[in-house]
Amino acid sequence: MNNVVHELGHAFNNRLGKLPENLLSATQETAWSPCYIPNFPNRLDLGENEDTGPNYGFASEQGVLMWQMNSGGSPSEEFADMFLGWTFDRWQAPPSSTNLPDHGKMRADWMDKYMPYFIWLALWKD
Ligand SMILES: [Zn+2]
Repeated sequence: MNNVVHELGHAFNNRLGKLPENLLSATQETAWSPCYIPNFPNRLDLGENEDTGPNYGFASEQGVLMWQMNSGGSPSEEFADMFLGWTFDRWQAPPSSTNLPDHGKMRADWMDKYMPYFIWLALWKD
């Protein structure tokens, strides 16, 4: 089920000419862009079956195919997993210390901010 939703996230991204992944990339990496968010989680690129990694804001670890259905670090794969997290409202729990960044909330807030706009675009785009 989670993989199906992940794949739907790819289809949604493609429907919008990859706008979601490009916006996510700019959020993570393009310091001069208006949508850049410092310290936004950005997972490393792990190959298939290549160990596990942190949650990066998702509700399971990297390499555990539950809430990160792909271990790739590309914005396309991260957006597909954020689409999954947004669909079920499942994110990494807040950190125990308020001094640490809440990566789950950062990803959830990003989706809540842009998804209404993306859905509107998907409806009207030819
Ligand atoms: Zn994928």
